[in-house]
Amino acid sequence: MTNKDVQIIKLVYRQPNIRLDRQNYGSVPEEHFPELDVKRVTAPVETNMTGNRIVNISFLFDQMEKLFTHKQQCTMGKMKFFKENRNGFHSVFVFKCETCDRKINITYYPVEDSINFDFVWRISSIGAGYSQGEELFSVLNIPYITKKRYKKVNNTCYVLIAGN
Ligand SMILES: [Zn+2]
Repeated sequence: MTNKDVQIIKLVYRQPNIRLDRQNYGSVPEEHFPELDVKRVTAPVETNMTGNRIVNISFLFDQMEKLFTHKQQCTMGKMKFFKENRNGFHSVFVFKCETCDRKINITYYPVEDSINFDFVWRISSIGAGYSQGEELFSVLNIPYITKKRYKKVNNTCYVLIAGN
């Protein structure tokens, strides 16, 4: 296990032959419900690309050109998603060619865009904070900024306010 791996809890049916669905849920006696086992498994966090993202769409399309360009140079190669490096709302998606092992980074914001700063600044300006944002982004299924990063960015906001 590396420091980038994460422990996840997996629920496993002990009797997988019993199937519960909407049709038979009410008619199956409780004693026939399958037993559940709780297993701890280790999964690499960076391959966990799920949910939604907020993207700068024109920038993302420009970035996708990198993948098409590689396809022209490496005709047998197929770029597959390898990992995601997240920094708040700013991510770098790393794709890796199955043939030549070349890696290509795809981002969905220009580096100079300060999406993390903009978010912290704007959410504070409407009188909300970390928890309210967390709830909203959870509903939208968008990975949220960590509390540590939020505090760091928030401190930058205070420095700017104090400077004016
Ligand atoms: Zn290739």
